[in-house]
Amino acid sequence: MPMAIQEILLMGDPILRQVSEPVPPESIQSDEIQSLIKDLLDTVMTDTNPDFTNVGLAAPQIGVPKRIFAVVAEDGTREDPEFDIYINPEIEHISDQVLTTEESCLSTPGLCGRVTRTKDIEISYLDPEGQHQKKKLSDLRAIITQHEFDHLDGVLWIDKVDDTKSLRFC
Ligand code: ZN
Repeated sequence: MPMAIQEILLMGDPILRQVSEPVPPESIQSDEIQSLIKDLLDTVMTDTNPDFTNVGLAAPQIGVPKRIFAVVAEDGTREDPEFDIYINPEIEHISDQVLTTEESCLSTPGLCGRVTRTKDIEISYLDPEGQHQKKKLSDLRAIITQHEFDHLDGVLWIDKVDDTKSLRFC
């Protein structure tokens, strides 16, 4: 399949505010969904920044309101990033502990602010082969995953910012 870097929608685009549709499990192996996954990966791995900073991307951000996102994988590195694909994910918050970090988004370039989220989650999802998977994520990977999950419900990090005084250009 050819490389297909997609344009990333910016805050203000109504598609980013839509609730995305679940992917019918039987369609995961279809060319349509497999090339969407490829596009997500090609786009998130586009290194326009000398120090690679992309950590996740959701399908609605490339204009496709379907419940799929990519999050940087545990074994990826800055030089050789790897991403996990989550389809029809469901998140369970498995601790009361929270973590506050500074977030940004490819759809809000140059804008950062502090958001508080659950520190430990369990995510159930389908992988790109259509297999059911479940895993526990903690700390930064849990934060990124909750950020991407919110995109599927039309929610942006800026909606959850702790204090608008924490907003800055970054
Ligand atoms: Zn985002």
